[in-house]
Amino acid sequence: MHHHFPTSYSAPFHLFRASAECQECGISCQVIGLTSGTEEPFILQEIKALPEELLSAIIAVHANFELCSSRKLNSLQFLNACSCSAHFPEFPLFSLPGGAFFPTEEGQASQIEVIELPIHGEHEIECSYGIGTGGLILKHGKRINWDSLT
Ligand SMILES: [Zn+2]
Repeated sequence: MHHHFPTSYSAPFHLFRASAECQECGISCQVIGLTSGTEEPFILQEIKALPEELLSAIIAVHANFELCSSRKLNSLQFLNACSCSAHFPEFPLFSLPGGAFFPTEEGQASQIEVIELPIHGEHEIECSYGIGTGGLILKHGKRINWDSLT
């Protein structure tokens, strides 16, 4: 399911936005996930490097997405941060059924916000990806217009 090498990903890029409970402080925070493509998109994970244009667009919507050190990868990667400064591990968000970005039915998918980023073309991103849960979110998620956010 996971591959890891710098490669080209194509627009459209969407942000998924949902809430997740911080494992450190117990507060519910907004978290985001980045996807590339339509129908059944790549859900980008373990992001180590991405173009400034994409990062700026993400940060404009969600400031708490930051580069931090990962013990698991022994390197830097982007993760969602809580206001308590703890980081959200990706596995429970993306890979556990019922996680913020792993809806198991349409009802849960419809609670997830979907924001298309104003980014075109292909971009080199160093990351891994998962496939298989994004299609339900793209189809049933709550669409939010970029212009209403910025
Ligand atoms: Zn916290």
